Amino acid sequence: MSKIDVEIVEVGPRDGLQNLDVVMPTADKCRWIAAEHAAGVREIEVGSFVPPKLLPQMADTGEVVAFARTLPNLRIATLAPNLRGALDAIKGGTHKIGVPISVSPEHSLSNVRKTPMQMVEELAKICKARDESGAAVEIEGALSTAFGCTMAGAVPEDDVLRIAEACLRAGIDSLALADTVGYANPAQVRSLFERVRGIAGDKLTSGHFHDTRGLGLANVMAALETGIRSFDATLGGLGGCPFAPGATGNVSTEDLVFMLESMGLRTGIDLAKLIETRKILEQALPGRPLYGSIARAGLPKGFRQAA
Ligand code: ZN
Repeated sequence: MSKIDVEIVEVGPRDGLQNLDVVMPTADKCRWIAAEHAAGVREIEVGSFVPPKLLPQMADTGEVVAFARTLPNLRIATLAPNLRGALDAIKGGTHKIGVPISVSPEHSLSNVRKTPMQMVEELAKICKARDESGAAVEIEGALSTAFGCTMAGAVPEDDVLRIAEACLRAGIDSLALADTVGYANPAQVRSLFERVRGIAGDKLTSGHFHDTRGLGLANVMAALETGIRSFDATLGGLGGCPFAPGATGNVSTEDLVFMLESMGLRTGIDLAKLIETRKILEQALPGRPLYGSIARAGLPKGFRQAA
């Protein structure tokens, strides 16, 4: 497969693991990342540069990045909620840093003890530090709780637009809209992506959806129809937000690849190989639920990937 129509970013090693009550051993994380890379995944969010005291699940992110750098043609993304983490990410050789900005003040304060605008100030410092380092690292502003919040409830579109504008002024390279808690519906997704595109243009690149209420793939479709060509997903639909109780399950990578490939959209990912990589999670996370329909039901008879 030479060309890719839609890029899928595996975020399981970060979003999938950060909410678990167990710490996945570094060797298992590396095995998982290598297996997805072998299946054709070309961007993986491998961890998060946060204090180990806060998230022991992510304490080995530096080591995991170092391993991921040995895999050819893999774009390595990490998450960093502050300047200190971003400096570690730059030093470690990350290609992309996602900086989460929660649009809901309640969520932001409980998550990082900063208001959304204080987070934008931090983001500006991160962009400046990146510029000064001379490193070719992409800084992505990831607007979390953009479609609703378990604490605040509805999140007004105008708030999302205001924060998006502030992030652009802070110097980000790209912008993602995230339904952190699985509140979004396709009509809302279409509306918000279109409005944010109006101010961000081509810098609005990515969608991040949780399948908490069963609308994950429908929301991907809505964003796809507005022109978005990059989506986050987690193998086995693992994941959730530690500050959003019950918000388990990103869109499953396997189901997303299946949907896109059956529509004739190339992902560059070998679906059968990808489904095989679930075995690594089954072994590394015994007793933890894995989600996803295609792994359960199997591929349809005669199924062929997009050519
Ligand atoms: Zn998420």
